Amino acid sequence: MNQVERKIYFARQEDIVGTTDPEVAAALRAERRRENEGLELIASENFVSLAVLAALGSVLTNKYAEGYPGKRYYGGGEFVDVAEELARNRAKQLFGAEHVNVQPHSGAQANMSVYLATCQPGDVVLGMDLSHGGHLTHGHPLNYSGKTFQIVPYLVRKDTETIDYDALRDLARAHKPKLIVCGASAYPRIIDFQTIADIAHESGSMVMADIAHIAGMVAVGMHPSPVPCCEFVTTTTHKTLRGPRGGMVMCKAQFAEAIDKAVFPGVQGGPLMHVIAAKAVAFAEALTPAYKDYIGRVLANARTLCAELQARGWNMVSGGTDNHLMLLNLGADGISGKKAEERLGRAGITVNKNTVPFDTRKPYIGSGVRIGTPAVTSRGMGPDEMKRIAALIDRVLRSEDEAVWTQVKAEVEELTRAFPLYGEA
Ligand SMILES: *Cc1c(COP(=O)(O)O)cnc(C)c1O
Repeated sequence: MNQVERKIYFARQEDIVGTTDPEVAAALRAERRRENEGLELIASENFVSLAVLAALGSVLTNKYAEGYPGKRYYGGGEFVDVAEELARNRAKQLFGAEHVNVQPHSGAQANMSVYLATCQPGDVVLGMDLSHGGHLTHGHPLNYSGKTFQIVPYLVRKDTETIDYDALRDLARAHKPKLIVCGASAYPRIIDFQTIADIAHESGSMVMADIAHIAGMVAVGMHPSPVPCCEFVTTTTHKTLRGPRGGMVMCKAQFAEAIDKAVFPGVQGGPLMHVIAAKAVAFAEALTPAYKDYIGRVLANARTLCAELQARGWNMVSGGTDNHLMLLNLGADGISGKKAEERLGRAGITVNKNTVPFDTRKPYIGSGVRIGTPAVTSRGMGPDEMKRIAALIDRVLRSEDEAVWTQVKAEVEELTRAFPLYGEA
């Protein structure tokens, strides 16, 4: 679809909503303008194709389909069955998985399903500490995972800021956990799933590898896959995979029944069939050479952006990046992550504040910002733009002067105008 066709598509969509609901239509229009004009560097965000969007906005949202293809608790499931079978088969092909459940509404639900299928309340679970890159659902005290299980957190090494596999092995030997959870939300390096699986199996533990962030790289073979060596692999579908918001669980055939029961009726009721159809569309896209090329550019862009920022004197957690994201460490006496996020936001550059390993600031303030390249790469930006973006970030972070931030915002808008997203507002 070309830019003119895109413009017509969105104008039509917003008009249809606007006919009965001008207030919501105005919010849709304003958000599209924000996405068009801003520089999206949040590592967990991306821009889906029009085909994915169209499937999301389809009549499949009308259908109740509790159960699984061929075994629904409601009549009239023959066409949603087609969509779910396509999604399952394409996901299996994409990741080489023995069994896939595409129904989890989100990454959090996918993880909850694995816990439900494997653990009893009070069981010991090893999870990577949130401030060292893990996720809330890996055992944070405020999350159901932390409230339900006895969580033993593992950390990164102080010197390298990479996962301390030796300490992880010691913890596994000492605690004999039911489950070891690995995978991260803010970890810029390759994760050695094979080593973690070996550690787990030595202690009689199972592994849940949560590849929510790195699923795209795993799918195209640009990050080692946990699928062959880990019992359970969970993911979101909306980050590097570039599909609709949602989750998915993959597992070995022997756990297929337990996982399906855990997702429904264990954790969820009716599946979101329009989202499952959109997952099928996104998986088909991810099976194309164009997607592999896209992921290659995401990685190249991250390396360039990281190196350019380092050349300007900025510190990166672990000294660089192997994936789609980097963690800029602002230092204990620099500006806080919160301040940096706000300031970059004023300049039209969207990032999120993040803690860094062994942070002395509270999580809500943080000493770092997380920066990712999936979304800007989806717009078509390449190494030249990464160099410009590094210079813009550097100017904003080094200046207390609001006029500088406003000037950078104008430059951001000029840059994004050259890479139109979903038709101009
Ligand atoms: C994003 C993320 C999730 C949660 O996904 P939601 O869809 O927001 O529930 C889970 N695990 C990791 C590692 C993530 O990065």
